[in-house]
Amino acid sequence: MMQHYLKTKEENKDCILFYRLGDFYEMFFEDAKIVSKELELTLTGKSCGMEERAPMCGIPYHAVDSYLNRLVKKGYKVAICEQVEDPKLAKGMVKREVTRIVTPGTNIDAQALDETKNNYLMCIVYMADKYGVSTADITTGDYYVTEVETERKLMDEVNKFSPSEIICNEPFYMSGVDIDDMRNRLGISVSALESWYFADEQAKRTLLEHFKVASLEGLGLNDYDCGVIASGALLSYLYETQKNSLDNLTAIHPYSTGKFMIIDSSTRRNLELVETLREKQKRGSLLWVLDKTRTAMGARMLRSFVEQPLIDRAEIEARYDAVGELNKNAITREEIREYLNPVYDLERLVTRVTYQTASPRDLISFKNSIRMLPPIRTLVGDFASQELKMLYENLDTLDDIFALIDAAIDEEPPLTVREGGILKEGYNEEVDRLRKAKTDGKSWLADLESKEREKTGIKNLKIKYNKVFGYYLEVTNSYKDLVPDYYMRKQTLTNAERYITPELKEMEDTILGAEDRLVQLEYELFREIRDKIAAEVVRIQRTAKAVAKLDVFASLAVVAEQNNYCRPKLNENGTIDIKDGRHPVVEKMINNDMFISNDTYLDNGKNRIAIITGPNMAGKSTYMRQTALIVLMAQIGSFVPAKSAKIGIVDRIFTRVGASDDLASGQSTFMVEMTEVANILRNATSNSLLVLDEIGRGTSTFDGLSIAWAVVEHISNPKLLGAKTLFATHYHELTELEGKLDNVHNYCIAVKENGDDIVFLRKIVQGGADKSYGIQVAKLAGVPDSVIERAKQIVEELIANDISETVKNIQVDHASARKKKTKLDEVDLEQISLFDTVKDDDILEELKNLDLGNLTPIDALNKLYELQHKI
Ligand code: ADP
Repeated sequence: MMQHYLKTKEENKDCILFYRLGDFYEMFFEDAKIVSKELELTLTGKSCGMEERAPMCGIPYHAVDSYLNRLVKKGYKVAICEQVEDPKLAKGMVKREVTRIVTPGTNIDAQALDETKNNYLMCIVYMADKYGVSTADITTGDYYVTEVETERKLMDEVNKFSPSEIICNEPFYMSGVDIDDMRNRLGISVSALESWYFADEQAKRTLLEHFKVASLEGLGLNDYDCGVIASGALLSYLYETQKNSLDNLTAIHPYSTGKFMIIDSSTRRNLELVETLREKQKRGSLLWVLDKTRTAMGARMLRSFVEQPLIDRAEIEARYDAVGELNKNAITREEIREYLNPVYDLERLVTRVTYQTASPRDLISFKNSIRMLPPIRTLVGDFASQELKMLYENLDTLDDIFALIDAAIDEEPPLTVREGGILKEGYNEEVDRLRKAKTDGKSWLADLESKEREKTGIKNLKIKYNKVFGYYLEVTNSYKDLVPDYYMRKQTLTNAERYITPELKEMEDTILGAEDRLVQLEYELFREIRDKIAAEVVRIQRTAKAVAKLDVFASLAVVAEQNNYCRPKLNENGTIDIKDGRHPVVEKMINNDMFISNDTYLDNGKNRIAIITGPNMAGKSTYMRQTALIVLMAQIGSFVPAKSAKIGIVDRIFTRVGASDDLASGQSTFMVEMTEVANILRNATSNSLLVLDEIGRGTSTFDGLSIAWAVVEHISNPKLLGAKTLFATHYHELTELEGKLDNVHNYCIAVKENGDDIVFLRKIVQGGADKSYGIQVAKLAGVPDSVIERAKQIVEELIANDISETVKNIQVDHASARKKKTKLDEVDLEQISLFDTVKDDDILEELKNLDLGNLTPIDALNKLYELQHKI
């Protein structure tokens, strides 16, 4: 057995091997050590023909799922080696085989998964300066492929899907991408696979064989090369791990990343699209506000809508039409939502059906879901908008599957498939006959019992059953004398004797034989039914997607109605004109009607940049994020929190929030801030929307102000960038740019002075704030009076050395900005002198001149001490 174990382990080196021994899964050697530590299990040892005892630990087979899920969640891969023959029938050693490999991206256990989220596995192939990216969720059958040219775009895909596992080729692993960051910060399990997965022919063949097509053209993959390899490798990996026909992967969807708005990871986080920045929870995110879906499929689709806003005007408007129609017909919509309520997760269910793991109870839930489809379809039939009409076409009422389950499966079947009781009466004659034989047999036994009592006079004679003897007659000792000759004694207990008779044994054969056959037959028929449903996987998946989409549109319509949203008007000239806009999340978090709405106006002409000043806590961040969120919601296809909104479609949204707001990544905060600014300046286009909050806060006032100033100059210049920008700053000096640059305007958030205190009015008005009110805000926050008083004195003194005069005299410089642009593209970030903050040339000189050969350790130490003090 140990030899077989070692061989199996060798074949599954990168996995923890769960080796089935009777009622336990055992782990040995290194695996045992890891598992005992990770799952806090006792580590034991076993002598197994080797010099030392093998470290070992075990898990009872019936509790395997929870242990397995915990390991997989921690990023381990687990290979499950089962006994594949009945130990009772086995000659010699029981045959064992790895039946499944569970990895983070291929776990199908419902208990380990969030039903409102997809669980994606992503395969990345890097070749010839291009990346092939294929992503699949085997629990739902979703399967995508694309190609991108740059690492940044690749990371956009990673962030969009946020897969739980990435598999890749060696060149990608070694390409210099930050694999540790993916693992540690994004929590993704990343592994490079052997090169055979990525062989061109192998990948192609796997795809063609799986989809049973003759050419890649049939799959729409003609124009892809590394995309084909990525999707083929992903498929091979799934075959390797699932050891199953993967019938639920019925189609592959090639897509172009240009179809969607680009949102980088920090923007996703800052805008809190699907979870909050700090608590990482859904409550408080945009998705939390928008999600009023009724089904798990709808919840997942809405999340993917939020994660990938569109940029095609016609597609977005088609979504508005659907939402609008559901909004107008609120009664029908609510009726539809009622019907959606009990609809089960059809996508994951059909996966269990194709995996042959669906239980009879799953089929009953399936039937109860299908029951809702005809009324839903009828209701949708009245709609006229393109999306809803298409959805109507795709929504199959699956009557045949309903009829099949309804005719066959008992309404309250057992959980398992091995104890009978699955099928309805009348479905199969043989089942009915065997069941009758069983019940007849039981009543025959009852008859026999009373007949024997009468015949023998043994009043408490009983017919009983146990697994060892089968049926027997039991007589207590007090009646022992009355036992007739033809009773054959089987067993003697302290106070009773057990007997059999030939007649009883004969009946036993009929009853038990019928029972065995019945259980077996019901199991076979159940599998047949399940397979019949599995054959309809394409129709079921299509219907599931239609239901999900309907659920999403209905949810968006409800949210729009409840929160008083308006339908945006899209344009392609880049004008963003929002009247009475609100922050969708903040308005829900504070008391009703307390939120103060504000207008936004930006365009591609004279209103490109809004410099926003105002004291801390005035509402600058809220205002800027609200604008970004309204644009984003508009491109998702949702109505928006505003009285009216004209939205010029943007290709990307970038946000950069204040340095102290995220300390997660371990780099110096200023470095993080500047890296993000560099990213924005390099990648934004004139069609992008930028939200920059407190750029330059992480360094000295003069540096910070100068950087902020130069950044605004750069962005404002249409020849260099010209992106629409909201720029919040506490450098009042920047308000000087209005007038110097013709497309920059000042705004501030109004506050009212009330003696020594201030009142936040939350209203955005034209013009720069004339004061920063920092001391008043500090007072509001409860800083002691003595400190506040002292601060006021210091301010007075500083005002005497005003820097604003100097600032007024700075001339804007587009020529040098242009030079900078070329430089930015060429120069390595690390070489930019901005980061050369240490200029202790004389110390370096001294170090260089040290004669180390003639220095005693004590002298060296003293020298070091001296140098350190000079820095
Ligand atoms: P700043 O960025 O200027 O420091 P924030 O945008 O963080 O200020 O706003 C501070 C708080 O003020 C927010 O948490 C929110 O509760 C409240 N707030 C902001 N804008 C509004 C508004 N328009 N209406 C009502 N409350 C608001």
